[in-house]
Amino acid sequence: MQAILALVGRPNVGKSTLFNRLTRSRDALVANLPGLTRDRKYGLGRLGERDYLVIDTGGLGEETDAIDALMGEQTRAAMREATHLLLMIDGRAGVTAGDEALAEELRAMGKPVVLVVNKIDTTAPTAALAEAYRLGLGEPMLISATRGSGLEALIDLVVPMPPAVPGEVPPADEAGEATSTEAPANTTRPPRSEGTRIAFVGRPNVGKSTLVNRLLGENRVVVFDQPGTTRDTIDVPFERDGRRYVLVDTAGIRRRARVNEMVEKFSIVKALDAINAADVVVLVLDARAGITEQDAHLIGLALDAGAPLVVAINKWDGLSEGDRASVRRGLDLRLTFLDYAERHFISALHGTGVGHLLTAAHRADDSSRRQVSTAELNRLLEGFVTAHQPPLSRGRRIKLRYAHLGGHRPFTIVIHGNQTERLTGEYKRYLANAFRRALKLVGTPVALEFKTGD
Ligand code: GDP
Ligand code: GDP
Repeated sequence: MQAILALVGRPNVGKSTLFNRLTRSRDALVANLPGLTRDRKYGLGRLGERDYLVIDTGGLGEETDAIDALMGEQTRAAMREATHLLLMIDGRAGVTAGDEALAEELRAMGKPVVLVVNKIDTTAPTAALAEAYRLGLGEPMLISATRGSGLEALIDLVVPMPPAVPGEVPPADEAGEATSTEAPANTTRPPRSEGTRIAFVGRPNVGKSTLVNRLLGENRVVVFDQPGTTRDTIDVPFERDGRRYVLVDTAGIRRRARVNEMVEKFSIVKALDAINAADVVVLVLDARAGITEQDAHLIGLALDAGAPLVVAINKWDGLSEGDRASVRRGLDLRLTFLDYAERHFISALHGTGVGHLLTAAHRADDSSRRQVSTAELNRLLEGFVTAHQPPLSRGRRIKLRYAHLGGHRPFTIVIHGNQTERLTGEYKRYLANAFRRALKLVGTPVALEFKTGD
């Protein structure tokens, strides 16, 4: 089961600092992105071999000890989704009435609670500890979110080790640095014989079930209602134009059986399950509603997961030319970092554009499985570097020497050189985009990993 850690605490104790530390951002993709990703509340993280989801419940911004202000509906919702509650306090400030009230609330949830004492870089640990024990939440974990110390012990405590693969020596955890930006080792992704696994992901009411029912109505369903294995997911295989697909964990499929069910409850965890189980994510947006905060959360998760992505803008029917132009402008502004994903304007209700969506999905799937020889990557790298030299650092030119494929999902290219840690975000984006174009990758993000040799 996926570990889901909810960070709870008064404003300014360091929740968002810890969140950023614990979640990986694939730097070439996500760094410095405008708008959507700045105020991320959900993020995937990986430390050594352990994967987890982190929810930052912050954003209330009021310095107060009043429990109502500390515990908004959003925080409570996050706590219901979490497997572990991390109560953060500021070791420098000591325990306040607000911390005590939060401790009380968290205990009442009946889930494992871990007390995290932050900012121990600026305070004497013994004093912080004595205070922290007063909360009666057991052994406090001492950390410094800004320095990244104590995080490994924290993750050790809450996230179980993945089961060992027989015959494989588990790699040692990376010491010291808390957050790994390395792509999961997943270098071979053969196409699956049962077809491209697609998850339609979107907030309630954007039209997912209409879309799914249309697809299944028009195409041959190979086997219907195959029960899920471990969770309550249902996979539905079907064929279109001789190509096989599997719809993964789609709320709409479930709903087909229970027509009068109320609007589905938005669950970021269910969406994450679907993203992880799919080869390609089709993010469904509602043209009439713009991009909401929930959409932004989903986009962030799909990015974190490195999932091949197609964006479907639904309910395109009945919009005036003026409305359409303004929707397109809005998407251009807010989805700049998703420029690798194809956008399809569709009407699930009328079936317009729905076929193209499937074609886009298998194109993205194929792209994400591309094999590229080291020779070709090196030839391309040389060309890119000649066309646009890396910047100087401390008077020396940063050198990029050779490249090879590092893995799929995300499609990762490893580049060796010197002083690579000094490359600017801008230059990394230039390289990522250049590789993506040259390799004709569509719908799949390209992550770069740099190794410095000297
Ligand atoms: P949030 O409101 O709980 O999300 O808190 P933030 O993450 O925004 O942090 C509040 C302030 O505390 C910021 O100025 C941080 O730089 C600072 N801070 C966070 N963690 C640490 C830490 O481990 N040590 C020190 N000295 N400062 C920290
Ligand atoms: P879900 O919650 O994402 O599964 O959304 P539904 O499929 O239940 O659709 C929500 C509402 O949007 C329903 O009233 C649908 O009839 C309507 N809807 C779905 N697709 C379209 C579309 O392409 N055009 C229009 N105009 N309405 C649509």
